[in-house]
Amino acid sequence: MSVRTRIAPSPTGDPHVGTAYMALFNWVFAKHHGGEFVLRIEDTDQARSTAESEQAIFNALRWLGLEWDAGPDVGGPDGPYRQSERREIYAEYARQLVRDGHAFVCFCTKERLDQVRAAQQAAKQTTRYDGHCLNLDADEVSRRIAAGDEHVIRMCVPEQGECTFTDQLRGAVTIPYSQIDMQVLVKADGMPTYHLAVVVDDHLMGITHILRGEDWLNSVPKHVLLYEYFGWRMPAMVHLPLLRNPDSSKLSKRKNPTSITYYRDEGILPEALINYLALMGWSMPDEREIFSKEEMVAAFDETRISLGGPIFDQTKLSWLNGQYLRSFSEDEFARRVADWMLNEDKLRGLIPLVHERVERLSDLVPLVDYLVGARKSLTPEDFNHKNLQREQVVMVLHHTLAAFDLLRRWQRDDLFNLSQQLAETLQLKFRDFLFPLFVAISGRSVSLPLFDSLLFLGADLSRARLRDALEALNVSGKERKRLDKSFAAMASELPLE
Ligand code: GLU
Ligand code: ZN
Repeated sequence: MSVRTRIAPSPTGDPHVGTAYMALFNWVFAKHHGGEFVLRIEDTDQARSTAESEQAIFNALRWLGLEWDAGPDVGGPDGPYRQSERREIYAEYARQLVRDGHAFVCFCTKERLDQVRAAQQAAKQTTRYDGHCLNLDADEVSRRIAAGDEHVIRMCVPEQGECTFTDQLRGAVTIPYSQIDMQVLVKADGMPTYHLAVVVDDHLMGITHILRGEDWLNSVPKHVLLYEYFGWRMPAMVHLPLLRNPDSSKLSKRKNPTSITYYRDEGILPEALINYLALMGWSMPDEREIFSKEEMVAAFDETRISLGGPIFDQTKLSWLNGQYLRSFSEDEFARRVADWMLNEDKLRGLIPLVHERVERLSDLVPLVDYLVGARKSLTPEDFNHKNLQREQVVMVLHHTLAAFDLLRRWQRDDLFNLSQQLAETLQLKFRDFLFPLFVAISGRSVSLPLFDSLLFLGADLSRARLRDALEALNVSGKERKRLDKSFAAMASELPLE
């Protein structure tokens, strides 16, 4: 059987470096074994999935040179490759499980489930479904379904015993069934949950090896059971260590830019980002640090995957990127600069901002410098303002950053409404409120319109500049905690969804 790997990202938000990291290892593993790499889109969360986000994933992976052999846009033998288009397939398998007594229909209301959970929490027990609908009479089930009663389908889990499975890096892993919930497989809206969809798809798509984040390790017993219930052979599994923030927490956009687009816009080269991500989980047999993904394919050896929590370190990434830049000929360097920013597409995004504002073309450069490149570094004095105390400046920056962290879409109206509401809640004139943001984003008190700048820079870069401004103002940990609290108290009044 030839090797087949896959990634299954959810198209919500910006394309994540964690997706690129998983894609790289799956791609390398497949190519090393002469196999295929599949891209599947997990868009069963219909409320959060968007077509733009899906397209952004395609673009980001292609920019990195990680092409897939089968996927939603290129087709393949086992499509469709978007889970939202496979509903009927999952429904059929769910019915089979119910018929065979491996799953059951559950009519419990949210209120009832909340009560059960609260009681279990009070008794310091593992919170899980209590089996209430496990033995409902078949006629009653049919009658209630026919009557249109809302219901889900849950999987059966043995009451006793434990599940032992093999992770290729960790060896045998054992988890008692008492810790495994009777997982919902099909939601009330008829959509499958991740657990059903992943098992059905990995099987039907002939996936031989699953390389994914270690955060899924505890879900494996559910999958083991489903493979057994269906009588299918389970793929081999490798759970990779997750990327981490410098404080060792799981890499998050609140602490570290996570979007691939951010790194591209910052002028990180695709081959440097790939090389960096490779180093996060793997090392060359000769320990050299600079290598291409093709060299990684040739030398790949899964036993060299490390289990430590790799820290995503911006300084190291910049160093590595610099090594690549310096290795280029002048021609190549020039071509890369042109590809990066000084190309027509990027310039087009800037022209509407400057069209009415320049008389000589050379006026353009000082206007857009902070959009094209890094803005100047800030000192506390940059934030001096006749109407604002330091405390107010810090509050504006902190609360805006906190609100931006929660914002789902990065669109003009959302950004504008949010800022207006924040200014009102903080009882500041809108103009005064905007001042610290202008400084944080552009390094100046007067620049191109703020909301245009935010849109051009994108969410990750805008947030990174706000974080950096708070650093420049020497905000202490204690101050931050106090600010977090005051923000939490007002967050419910803000237009965030
Ligand atoms: N959508 C899941 C994720 O991106 C897929 C997990 C898996 O690979 O099984 O984390
Ligand atoms: Zn129930």
